Amino acid sequence: MITPPNNQPPKHTNSLATSPSVIVIGAGIVGISTAIWLQRYGCQVTIIDKQVTQNAASYGNAGVLAQSSVVPVTTPGLLSKAPKMLFSTKEPLFLRWSYLLKLMPWLRKYLAHCNHKDVLRISKALYPLVSNSLQNHQDLANGTTAENFVKPDDYLFLYQNRASFEADAYGWNLRENLGYQWQELEGKAVAEYDPALSGDNNFLVRFNDHGRIPHPGKYIQALTTHAVKAGARLITGMVDDFVIENQHVKGVVTQSGETVKADKVAITSGVWSGKLSQKLGLNIPLESERGYHLELINPSCLPRSPVMVASGKFVMTPMEDRLRLAGIVEFGGLKAPAASAPHNLLLNNIRALLPGITWDSADKWLGHRPAPVDSIPLIGRIKSLQNIYIGCGHHHVGLTAGPRTGQLLAQQITQQATDIDLAVYSPDRFSD
Ligand SMILES: Cc1cc2nc3c(=O)[nH]c(=O)nc-3n(C[C@H](O)[C@H](O)[C@H](O)COP(=O)(O)OP(=O)(O)OC[C@H]3O[C@@H](n4cnc5c(N)ncnc54)[C@H](O)[C@@H]3O)c2cc1C
Repeated sequence: MITPPNNQPPKHTNSLATSPSVIVIGAGIVGISTAIWLQRYGCQVTIIDKQVTQNAASYGNAGVLAQSSVVPVTTPGLLSKAPKMLFSTKEPLFLRWSYLLKLMPWLRKYLAHCNHKDVLRISKALYPLVSNSLQNHQDLANGTTAENFVKPDDYLFLYQNRASFEADAYGWNLRENLGYQWQELEGKAVAEYDPALSGDNNFLVRFNDHGRIPHPGKYIQALTTHAVKAGARLITGMVDDFVIENQHVKGVVTQSGETVKADKVAITSGVWSGKLSQKLGLNIPLESERGYHLELINPSCLPRSPVMVASGKFVMTPMEDRLRLAGIVEFGGLKAPAASAPHNLLLNNIRALLPGITWDSADKWLGHRPAPVDSIPLIGRIKSLQNIYIGCGHHHVGLTAGPRTGQLLAQQITQQATDIDLAVYSPDRFSD
């Protein structure tokens, strides 16, 4: 067992009857957080991932610990805006039209949530998962080399002017009602705060209590290395099936035919959790919300903190020697290769925002946000089977909410009380 943070004994261990062995399928931020917390609670952990890091959303995201991200995509205005956005290459919403028929059942249910009542329900569900993210990451990484990747930072929303900020009042009112506070900078104050932002956009919203992971891929790698050093077994392979006896899950079978047994299994496989859980007879409506990043290596200027650029709906984050531009929502499933239009849009947007910016080379990436129809992550035990748990569906906020999710899931797996009611996250809500 590894040493818990601050060398304190792990909390609640007195309620742990035995030390179960647990398989964690998927080593993105949700999986690795689950694995580390399970170790802290005394479990023997086996982590299985088909291709550690690169392929995962947890590798290529914008790196923002977005504690204030409680506003779902499905707000009341979306239905009227989306059709126009789809027919423009200047808007960050794309659809592979050949995928539309396949997408329709999910899309119909997803769009049904574009109403105020559901938005309130979703934001209340997201709040306990995201609102203390910086501290959650600090706790997760405490005492590991991953600690160096967790940086307290501002998170900024850059608008053209106050009018464009006010046009987003719906989301800001929602945040205000949940108790979030921010600072508003206008005109010269924007460039005084960060000279890199001295352009046509002269209204800035500043959250000063957020955080940033300057290289999410290396961070996940450092956490994984730590888990392995602390005794976890790491298997590179794809889980294809489950070993089930008398409604009890006893282990998993990998694509190469290896059977791995354990007392309990956690599915933390991002968007791929949907297909995998079909093997258990579940029908989780999970879709890929494809997202893109473009990295400018050795750029001539770097903003001091991550910025959500409201006009282009993308985030630019300073990351070590590079500027990562991340965003875009594209529906097109898991198999289609990256398109060029989203990357071109990011490029055009940054040229318009920071005129004259230069860089040595650029890296491009496509990843898959795991998007459940109701925008609420799935966290918890599957009732129809013994010993199997799910943690997935974190949509745009998985990096932010991953450590908290991992701890909650680990507490549930080790039969401890959780400090929040997990009912709203139940993976069974789609089968009722
Ligand atoms: C462009 C973009 C920007 C984003 N920016 C942010 C941000 O700034 N802040 C934020 O909080 N969130 C952000 N997100 C969202 C966030 O990245 C995701 O919600 C989060 O990474 C999901 O984590 P995960 O662990 O659930 O899944 P993943 O990171 O996708 O990990 C799943 C893992 O499971 C493995 N796997 C899948 N199937 C199997 C199998 N059958 N057998 C074995 N292994 C398997 C995969 O290889 C993968 O490693 C962004 C996403 C994108 C795409």
